[in-house]
Amino acid sequence: MDEATRSRHDAAVAGDPDLADAIRRLAETPRLLVALDFDGTVSPLVDNPADSRVIPEARSALDLLEHTPDTWVAFVSGRPLDGLIRVTEADESALLIASHGVEVRLTGGAVDVGLSDGERSRLAALAVELDRIVAATPGSKIEHKPVGLGLHTRGVPTNAAAAANEQARAAAHAIGGGFLERAGKDILEFAVRDATKGDGIERLREHVGATGVLYAGDDVTDEDGFAVLTSDDVGVKVGPGETRAGFRVADPDVVAGLLQSLASLRARN
Ligand SMILES: [Mg+2]
Repeated sequence: MDEATRSRHDAAVAGDPDLADAIRRLAETPRLLVALDFDGTVSPLVDNPADSRVIPEARSALDLLEHTPDTWVAFVSGRPLDGLIRVTEADESALLIASHGVEVRLTGGAVDVGLSDGERSRLAALAVELDRIVAATPGSKIEHKPVGLGLHTRGVPTNAAAAANEQARAAAHAIGGGFLERAGKDILEFAVRDATKGDGIERLREHVGATGVLYAGDDVTDEDGFAVLTSDDVGVKVGPGETRAGFRVADPDVVAGLLQSLASLRARN
């Protein structure tokens, strides 16, 4: 390691020598998959989700990793695939797991989710109810996803958000058919198909034949991702909250430093 690389590495993992060791070991794995949540992990959380972008220091590290032999970069997000392509500015070769694992784009194209008539009509019925709730809850928003609906409450006062979520749960229950419910940061989602970020990571691992995986994420849904990691992998929780990840960092800036460090180490191997 030259001095610049060493100082970046030290800064990224300051106070956590175990994480520094884990990244050094991971850099030597024969086939490396770098899988990352997007929002709050490589991009700061912003009020308008369409404005999110990968922070520049992380972008340059990911570009370097993508051009390193036997190394793959993937985004694993709750966002729908078309939106994820837009915010990540991903080129055609990028590996993308979207809608929490329901939508998958590997080398060779996207998977079509193709809803049944029953799934479609349950979603339409729930959309009517959520529209009603959103109209009565200033600041809340509905998001239409490929296999579900999201109720966004970022910026809505806590009590009003809780009441809106309760009404949404009751509406989903009344429609029936067993909506899958998923709570994230200021969003409550209802889906008609089941898949998790863990399913997505397993799919990616198999696709590239990875012998080691880095997965970083900040939200409760990322715990499904950490759950499928092995002792050859490295899981990094971003920010506060309970986690089963082996390591924790403060924010996306530290993730960027970590990625720069991993990219430099990997490029040298
Ligand atoms: Mg996130």
